[in-house]
Amino acid sequence: MKGQAEDEGSGFSDKLEKLSARIRETVSGEIMMNEPLSKHTSLKIGGPVSMLVFPEDPMSLQNILTAAAEEDVPVFMIGAGTNLLVKDGGVDGIAISLDAFNQVRIAEETDDSVTLFIGAGVSLGKLINFTKEKGYSGIEALAGIPGSFGGAVYMNAGSFGVEIKDVIVSIAIMNRYGKIAILKMENLRFSYRNSNLPEGLAILSANIKLRKADAEEVQNKVSECLQKKRLTQPLGEPSAGCVFKNPEAQSAGRLIELAGCKGMRSGDAEVSWLHANYLINRGNAKSKDFIKLMDMVRDKVQEHSGITLEPEIKIIGKN
Ligand SMILES: Cc1cc2nc3c(=O)[nH]c(=O)nc-3n(C[C@H](O)[C@H](O)[C@H](O)COP(=O)(O)OP(=O)(O)OC[C@H]3O[C@@H](n4cnc5c(N)ncnc54)[C@H](O)[C@@H]3O)c2cc1C
Repeated sequence: MKGQAEDEGSGFSDKLEKLSARIRETVSGEIMMNEPLSKHTSLKIGGPVSMLVFPEDPMSLQNILTAAAEEDVPVFMIGAGTNLLVKDGGVDGIAISLDAFNQVRIAEETDDSVTLFIGAGVSLGKLINFTKEKGYSGIEALAGIPGSFGGAVYMNAGSFGVEIKDVIVSIAIMNRYGKIAILKMENLRFSYRNSNLPEGLAILSANIKLRKADAEEVQNKVSECLQKKRLTQPLGEPSAGCVFKNPEAQSAGRLIELAGCKGMRSGDAEVSWLHANYLINRGNAKSKDFIKLMDMVRDKVQEHSGITLEPEIKIIGKN
């Protein structure tokens, strides 16, 4: 007789098999089965996801979401994986990448401003380059943040006091039943590194409003921000950026440094010597090394300053 866990396991693989047949029939775009997410995260850590799909159009995305909802299989959106720690046991469910939603176009223009339509799959770097060439000002401070535009909106990415929410006019989303809606900025509740949008919902695109400026001025601001980041952050090492959120009026990096954590290690996970809020993968770090190091850092900071750090990165998957 089969045990309960075995029953649950085979129940899930039956569902998945049914689902993958249905998705193959109705979806344009690449489908990968049991794909290691270590290949799709900047930390280079993470076990396999049951299915990774790259829908090429909204209809295909709709077909994936409705089929998954009907079969009760969990879905999550993945951008460039630059803010994700995926556990080594991987993820049971479907990861969806909107890489193909990569359109940038002018939606509206006046003498002194421009509203851009940006697809979720556009890389933030590509967007910054576009605004730099055209002389559109407002997001120069975000230069150097890796990842997709959809990920930046979901995380309300920001740096040097500017957040993506500062320029958003509206967002197009698709809910888990495949319904599209346009959400206006005044009805959204962005906060620090959080869009407060439900998980599993897909951000398809957003309109952002920028000021027309002198291209050289924009270019100079971008170069200045990039230069500051290159000097203070380990940009060439596998990381997920800042691991902990800054507590109110404090810098998490400074608190970690003051607690004496720089260089601390668990397996191949290490607290960066350059920026203490960056935990980097020195080669072969496992998710458990990374999570243990996060716990060690949090405990040390708590002991030293009485402040409890909250993670900024998203941790998903099973051990
Ligand atoms: C070297 C380095 C430097 C960094 N510097 C900064 C910085 O200065 N400021 C900052 O804010 N962040 C920084 N980050 C973190 C990260 O780059 C940002 O949070 C980025 O916006 C995440 O985008 P992504 O596409 O990689 O998202 P992912 O990591 O793939 O996903 C992050 C979250 O967004 C969700 N998501 C992604 N795409 C969608 C979508 N289309 N619809 C709905 N949900 C979606 C995912 O489900 C997940 O919950 C840095 C990271 C690195 C590695």
